[in-house]
Amino acid sequence: FELRLRAMSEQAAAAAAAAEAPPEVTLFDKIVAGQIPCNKVYEDDVCLAFRDIAPVAKTHVLVIPKDRDGLSQLSKADARHKPLLGHLMWAASHVAALEGLGAGWRLVVNDGKEGCQSVYHLHLHVIGGQQLSWPPGTGA
Ligand code: AMP
Repeated sequence: FELRLRAMSEQAAAAAAAAEAPPEVTLFDKIVAGQIPCNKVYEDDVCLAFRDIAPVAKTHVLVIPKDRDGLSQLSKADARHKPLLGHLMWAASHVAALEGLGAGWRLVVNDGKEGCQSVYHLHLHVIGGQQLSWPPGTGA
């Protein structure tokens, strides 16, 4: 029941976020700028990785580009973003190693309302630290 309730609230948050115009300055821009605190796991010149405030597993880290460059969501990607996207994939793998996820982990990108995206600043979810289940699906 709790899982179901959580899925419903994630869908509601995603619907609300999709209904609004994408903000000029996102929540994650504010984290990059140090205006909102985060629990940092890794940082370089291109990206920042920090713990999700509402973890769905023992380990749940978000990897974000410091400069969004139009990537409010992955479906906005065009050819110029290829190096950045590659860097983020590498960073996710690096975070998994730093977090000791050698037994396995998952990388998730939610896109748009039906993908349950709630923050319109591209982010990769690194999830693990315990046995995960599959498929994610509808939760119905
Ligand atoms: P998504 O639903 O894919 O857009 O994921 C957004 C994620 O950001 C969710 O898993 C939230 O728990 C997480 N989140 C929201 N606010 C914060 C915050 N201030 N610090 C860390 N994670 C956050």
